[in-house]
Amino acid sequence: MDTNKKAIIEKRIEKTISALEKNKMKGYYVKSRDELLSLIDSLIRDDKLITSGGSMTLAQTGVIDHLNSKYSGIFHDRAACKSPEETQELFRKAYYSDTYFVSSNAITENGELYNVDGNGNRVSAMIFGPKQVIVIAGYDKIVTDLDAAKERVEKIAAPANALRLGLETPCSVSGECMHCHSDKRICCSYVTLGQQRIPDRIKVIFLGEELGL
Ligand code: SF4
Repeated sequence: MDTNKKAIIEKRIEKTISALEKNKMKGYYVKSRDELLSLIDSLIRDDKLITSGGSMTLAQTGVIDHLNSKYSGIFHDRAACKSPEETQELFRKAYYSDTYFVSSNAITENGELYNVDGNGNRVSAMIFGPKQVIVIAGYDKIVTDLDAAKERVEKIAAPANALRLGLETPCSVSGECMHCHSDKRICCSYVTLGQQRIPDRIKVIFLGEELGL
């Protein structure tokens, strides 16, 4: 990446981390995937139960593979669930996790996390349950404010995710949200996480690359 562009991106990450910290969420910036995995290891040292929400970013960055290889027995991977019942059980188990790994659809420069969810299991566990929530995000998830976050979701994240999952929603055809009532709707809940009651329960780790959708 061009060094000037990188410098500008890093300033935006720093600004967002400061805003997250005002909202009592801890922010980190790591410069490589190796650094990311080392930081994760230091944050989950004493864990007994680790779970995750669905996320392309977690797979792309090698976090899921790392958890499966280094923390097998402690990490419960939803990809290993053999039936819808087992998956539902894991969704509930997530509330008792020591650590819940997830990404975010958008993060504002005001230090808010904005997410939409179909089932609601991912956003509900971000709000309450796990002792800590570790959010991994590329710099491209940073947006100016909540209006920009909503626009990002409606014009990029939701349509692209619907396409990726092979869901026949209007947005997967038109390329943008049509505010549908489809049974396959992937955005039933719209959740903004602002200031937190428990300081640093939510930790956001930024990587200086584009990740996820
Ligand atoms: S409301 Fe429907 S059309 Fe809009 S993003 Fe969600 S699934 Fe797609």
